[in-house]
Amino acid sequence: MLFKKSDDLQAFLSNKRQSGVPIGFVPTMGALHKGHISLIELSKKKKCLTVCSIFINPIQFNDPKDFEKYPVTLVSDLDLLIQSGCDVLYLPSVDEMYPEGLQTTRENIPLRGLDTILEGASRPGHFQGVAFVVKRLLERVQPDFLFMGQKDFQQVLVVREMIHHFKLPIRVISGPIIREETGLAMSSRNIRLSAPVRKKAGVIYAALKHIADNYYIRSWSELRQEAIDMILKELPDAGIDYLLSADIHTLKEITPTQDSPAVILTAIWVEGVRLLDNILVGSK
Ligand code: AMP
Repeated sequence: MLFKKSDDLQAFLSNKRQSGVPIGFVPTMGALHKGHISLIELSKKKKCLTVCSIFINPIQFNDPKDFEKYPVTLVSDLDLLIQSGCDVLYLPSVDEMYPEGLQTTRENIPLRGLDTILEGASRPGHFQGVAFVVKRLLERVQPDFLFMGQKDFQQVLVVREMIHHFKLPIRVISGPIIREETGLAMSSRNIRLSAPVRKKAGVIYAALKHIADNYYIRSWSELRQEAIDMILKELPDAGIDYLLSADIHTLKEITPTQDSPAVILTAIWVEGVRLLDNILVGSK
């Protein structure tokens, strides 16, 4: 089923809700790949009526060129969604999502500072835009479960915080990172990489694994430098924005101690594309 209008979507879902089926929701910006589909599969596994949305949210792009260049592959998206057994696609227009207009001033959502560090530091306003659109989508879909990818680790924390702040009765489930054969984390933006660089970018995961495998037994600064050397050997023109070890709840930078789990986070510019990846250490 495809809905473009929220009234139609809500009428359909409220019927389903009354029959007691749980609703699982997977918000996306389209250009779907196996990473997105893995979240739909998680929702299906939980026996949810599964709703996917495709909406390229203008207010989360601080760089208008990135917004213009964002890939649109609707025909193949529909194909993948049908194959995956997704029950509902919500495909709103910009006017449908923002009837009040894009330029309206919106009140900031308190996010414990999670929105202004790391990705938020390089993309001011990005996470406020994400939190706003996800809240609006959640109000329309009213899911029981929200499925999001660990690939965007900070985004999951931001959305959890927004849900906590507004006391929404929704469980957030974070799915594992799905990777290309080389190890490169799948992303809609990967199609903007040249074929040789896309292949070599698998080194980012190899470098993260090198850190994770040695995290509690080697010096952090040496390990970090070795990981950077690995990446620059394969991708000499890469710009490493950050590569750090952080607390899994606050994203504050931490150095390894035996008892604390951590997430190693990185953002790297390659051929004008910002690649994000991360790996968990010491948590089950
Ligand atoms: P996007 O379309 O990039 O906004 O992503 C929609 C959802 O898919 C987000 O929750 C992402 O974290 C998730 N996602 C994106 N890439 C991957 C991946 N490689 N593996 C798992 N989930 C992903």
